Parts: sequence; structure tokens; C-alpha cells
Amino acid sequence: MSQGNKITTIWQTAFHNFEQTVRQLHLDPQVRDKIMGPKEKIEARLSPVLTDGTIFTLTTYIVRHSDALGPAKGGIRMAPEVTLDDIAGLAMEMTWKTALIDVPFGGGKAGIKCDPHNLSPRNKEIIIRAFTRGMRHHIGPEIYVPAPDMGTNERDMGHIRDCISYSEGISITRGCYVTGKPVIVSGIVGRREATGKGVVQTILAACSKLHLDISNMRVALQGLGNVGSVCAQEIARLGVKVIAAADITGAIMKTSGFDVPDLVNYVHSSGGVKGYGDGEIINAGGIFEVDCDILIPAATQSVITADNAAKIKAKIIAEAANAPTTPAADDVLNKRDIFVIPDILCNAGGVYVSYLEYTQETQHEQWTLEQVEKRLADRMRQRFDEVYDYAQNNNITMRQAAMQIAVHRVAQAVEARGYLP
Ligand code: NAD
Repeated sequence: MSQGNKITTIWQTAFHNFEQTVRQLHLDPQVRDKIMGPKEKIEARLSPVLTDGTIFTLTTYIVRHSDALGPAKGGIRMAPEVTLDDIAGLAMEMTWKTALIDVPFGGGKAGIKCDPHNLSPRNKEIIIRAFTRGMRHHIGPEIYVPAPDMGTNERDMGHIRDCISYSEGISITRGCYVTGKPVIVSGIVGRREATGKGVVQTILAACSKLHLDISNMRVALQGLGNVGSVCAQEIARLGVKVIAAADITGAIMKTSGFDVPDLVNYVHSSGGVKGYGDGEIINAGGIFEVDCDILIPAATQSVITADNAAKIKAKIIAEAANAPTTPAADDVLNKRDIFVIPDILCNAGGVYVSYLEYTQETQHEQWTLEQVEKRLADRMRQRFDEVYDYAQNNNITMRQAAMQIAVHRVAQAVEARGYLP
């Protein structure tokens, strides 16, 4: 998180990557100003009454970074430390991600500033419903369509949909107001696993390009939540060893490889890796120095810094988390020729299947798991190949290639829409 004593925020990382791309593309300064965004930042203070009668006042945010390509799309982050700046940075990342994965959405993000781990399920529902009511006019199929992110899950998305249909006095919503919902209330099969499965698709594609045999790879992973636990299970299903795992509770290592289904079950029931009986305990930051082939940061931002980037032994870094690598660390990784699959490509499987959920609900269709997984795999491979070829042809990194393709698309949309009134 820090470069020396200086904290690198998500906004700083997102802005740095954008400015670098603007220079590389020689973008017109007026177009740059227009697409730099955000288009709209909303901050709402809410005071719901919790189950014990206390009035709980908290701050919530929605940022719509861009709607050049369609309604703003992006998850809701619930965390005590989340700031409006973080949400703006994450919303900017979503603009490039939706453009890169080629779905008709812009970029947005929401934040709820409180600790989900200190809330009972009922109190979390109260807060989610208060957020939905308070932000009602900023959420909608043509405005901003939320989804899960750190600290929120499909149960919460079900409550958002219910809150909106309840307020309209109808049994469904008119169109898709939120994605990542439970399947039984117009969610789509495979959405919960989509981000993690998409990450693994990009890892397979990278191994194939780099002529690495996936079955010999050893994986270290930070984060075993929505995204990380699916990555770990998918990796294990391929017969690949997960030799180190870390989360907010600690870090563990086992060179012969963990029994991943057992580890994931333990984490789901206990809340973290701490206390897991198998393997040795390592220090939390040690996860980035483990002797492994593939490193998957699947937890939080700014964890790969200039300091630990110099000690990473992995050949591939798959950015399952958003903005896990600071700009200074990125320079170190580039110099060391470590192959980085950038976040806007690596974790885009979630928003891609959210797009399928949006169309399924809008058109009252029913998709099968097989159809969803095939479309996800095809799209991830196709977008990976385009970014890889662009990077090779222009002798630039995967991140620079992904950003150039994405920013160019958004600039094209802005130009095509025109500038008046
Ligand atoms: P989650 O809340 O389900 O899980 C977060 C995991 O990270 C937990 O295992 C937690 O213990 C760990 N963690 C949190 N802070 C940590 C820290 N400081 N040090 C070590 N471990 C820490 O969140 P998630 O939905 O799995 O999201 C993880 C990342 O993936 C985030 O960066 C998120 O923005 C990104 N992402 C999520 C989705 C999605 O569909 N959920 C889609 C795209 C990107």
C-alpha cells in the first residue's frame, strides 16, 4: 500500500495509467478533458435504524465516471476505509474495463462506508435497503447498474432489486436495475463464479502464449473471497498446485499444495485462513515473495509496491483484484520482464456475465450454465488475444495495450456522439 511512507490510492493509480495512455495515443487535450471524468459524483449520508433501535449514520457514494458507451456499470464496495476518491478511481477503471471487454456500458462504482464484518445479516440488509432508497434516483437500467464488489454479495443484490420493486408496487423491476442477483430472482447462472473463472481463462491464455505448461505451475494467491476462492477452486480443478494463500486474517504456505476445496470450506466457515491446520504460517506480506510461478492478487488495491515487486518470483501476475499494482511497482515488474495480466482484462469476466444477466432480464430470456460459460470463455480468450497481439505489435506491455484499446474506444464513442449542446 505504501511507496516508502507514501500511500498510493486507487485514484492515483487509475489516473497515472490514464495519463500515460493519453500521451501514448497523442489524444486531443479537449477529448482527454472530456473523457477524464468523472461525469458525476454523488455523496449521500444515510441514517437507518438498526435492529437494536440505534440510529446508524453513514456515508455512501455513487460515481458515474463515463456513460459514453452506455449506462454506468460497476460494483458496490462496502468497507470502513472506502473514500469518494477510491470510488472515483474504481469507476474510471470500470470505464476502461467495459470498453475493453466490449459491452455497451460505461463505468461506475458505489461505496458504502462501513464494516460488513461487524453487521448481523439483518442489519446489513437494513443498510443495503437504506442505500437503495437514498440513492434511488441514481440507480437504473439507463443510469447506473450496480453489482457485487468487496464486502457485498448476491444476497445484497437481491435486496436491492426487492427494494426497488417494492417501492414501485410491482413484483419485478422494469428492466435490469442490478446484476449479480440470486438466480431465483432474475439472476443468471454462473455470475457468482464469472470473475474468478474469467481470471483463470486469462491465465490459461498467458501460459499458452508463453509456452508454459499449466500443469507444472505453482500458484500463490492473496484473497479468498468472492473472486479468490473461485480462482483457487478453478486452478485446483485443472490439477495445478496452490502453494500459498493469504487474506486479511493471515497467510499460509504448503510447498506440496493445499487441498483447495477443504481450505475454501474452512475459510467460508471460519472467515479466513487463520487457524487452518495444514501448512506453515508465513508473514502476511510474505505472500508476494513466495517461490511460485503465478501470483494472483485477488484481495485489495495497492498491495504490489516498488519494494515487494523487486522480490516477486512469479513469471505471471494475474490481477484479479482492482488496481493491485502501484505505478512504481509496474515499472519494476516491466524491467524484470514479469508478465502482468492487467486488471481491466483479467477480472472483466464478472462484468461480461453481468451484461448477459442484463440482456437476459431485459428480454425475459433464460440462459443455461453451458451457454454462459461458453460465451465467457470465448470472450475472455478473444479479448486476451487482441490485447496480446496489440502489445506484441507495438512492443508495449499488456497494461499499456489494454489501456490504449480501451481509451481509444471511449474516445471514438465520444467523438461519434458529438459535443453539442
Ligand atoms: P470479498 O470481500 O469477497 O473478498 C476479499 C478478500 O480479500 C477476503 O479474502 C479478504 O480477507 C481479503 N482481504 C481484504 N483486505 C485484505 C488485506 N488488506 N490484506 C490481505 N487480504 C485482504 O471481495 P471480492 O468480491 O472477492 O473482491 C476482491 C477483489 O476483486 C477486489 O479488488 C474487487 O474490486 C475485485 N473484483 C471483484 C469482482 C466481483 O465480481 N466480486 C469483479 C471484479 C473485480
